[in-house]
Amino acid sequence: MSYSEKTRDLYLSQLADIRNGGIFKEERFIHSSQAADIEVEFPSGSDLKKVINMCSNNYLGLSSHPDVIKAAHEGLESRGYGMSSVRFICGTQDIHRELENKVTEFLGTEDTILFPSCMDANAGVFEAILTSEDIMISDRLVHASIIDGMRLCSAQHDTFKHSSMEHLEEKLLLHSNKRLKLVITDGVFSMDGDTAKLDQMARLCEKYDALLLVDDSHATGFIGRTGRGTHELCNVMGRIDIITTTFGKALGGASGGCVSGRKEIVEMCRQKARPYLFSNTIAPVIVSGVLKVFDILSASTERRDKLEKNAAFWRKGLKDAGFILKEGNTPIVPVMLFNAKLSQDFSKELFNEGIYAIGFFFPVVPNGQARIRTQISAGHEIHHLEAALEKFIKVGKKLGILGLTKDQIIEKFGL
Ligand SMILES: *Cc1c(COP(=O)(O)O)cnc(C)c1O
Repeated sequence: MSYSEKTRDLYLSQLADIRNGGIFKEERFIHSSQAADIEVEFPSGSDLKKVINMCSNNYLGLSSHPDVIKAAHEGLESRGYGMSSVRFICGTQDIHRELENKVTEFLGTEDTILFPSCMDANAGVFEAILTSEDIMISDRLVHASIIDGMRLCSAQHDTFKHSSMEHLEEKLLLHSNKRLKLVITDGVFSMDGDTAKLDQMARLCEKYDALLLVDDSHATGFIGRTGRGTHELCNVMGRIDIITTTFGKALGGASGGCVSGRKEIVEMCRQKARPYLFSNTIAPVIVSGVLKVFDILSASTERRDKLEKNAAFWRKGLKDAGFILKEGNTPIVPVMLFNAKLSQDFSKELFNEGIYAIGFFFPVVPNGQARIRTQISAGHEIHHLEAALEKFIKVGKKLGILGLTKDQIIEKFGL
């Protein structure tokens, strides 16, 4: 035992720095299942409070859907609780293959490989398919898990300015002598709710002989006319070489992820991706639930249509009330407050009013870009959105920001 007082003090002082910097992350304990209405214990130890959840990734409202729960129960009964093995030894069931085939069909790709999470998919895919002769060119705002995955890969790395097609083209020209070029982007960017210009990106990749990878974690299941994702929205289905996505958001929200795309690339992942080779895959109970989710999505677009309507209603309501929003067309609707403390005060006031929405500030978003990120769900009914809107307006008035311009908010509260 060598956890000396000196070592303990070292960590205590680092934790104190985090607290003093105002970026200590406090968990809120939910005592109910994930849904539009939840019961929350916050701060820890306090009485439960019933609130409307305005910040979950439960886009399609499937996290607690009775049919998904029933399918999970059946899976638990018929295939057991755990696999007790990684896949290539004795950890693969027929239902894993069935889910891979379903995902392939849904996304319109050639093949799919499951991972324990999308974080793992991103951690494994780059190293499995690239070498030091290759280059990864990523959008500057890609998700943290992509950044970690690129760190684990020996290929060279460069970036292009967020969604700038001119800058991407420059970089493609600059790196034209590399063996393979892989362009990397999120489909929907989770902090701003904007979508990648996949049509232009696909065209550039075809022109400069580059591969294209899209992480569609905030899109699969609801973006595009039938919810296939950003590639459907941008009319480039079949032209994206690699899609990574999660089952931990719209698709039931439990856990799991995948790499879907060109057959040979998926096969390379099966042979070489380390999170696939050295970690158990998705538990049978979850596979069974996700299979049901795909049945629900394939049968009807009702949920994603409702989500689209809900999001439009919410966006318009906030805008008409005089809030500053990040423009976009997704269920991610950031309410811009710019000042970090203001975002925390706003979130606290909302919670007191029975609305659960978290304020984000640096380093999660750029300095001076603090915001409340709201996320709309098909699990919301109009009465939820009306109640939330009323409370947003009440708090907005109380804090004196309604109708103010960005400059006026900054003048009033500082940065
Ligand atoms: C949430 C998210 C992930 C991680 O998904 P998990 O399956 O929870 O690991 C990866 N990429 C993006 C873009 C995400 O938003």
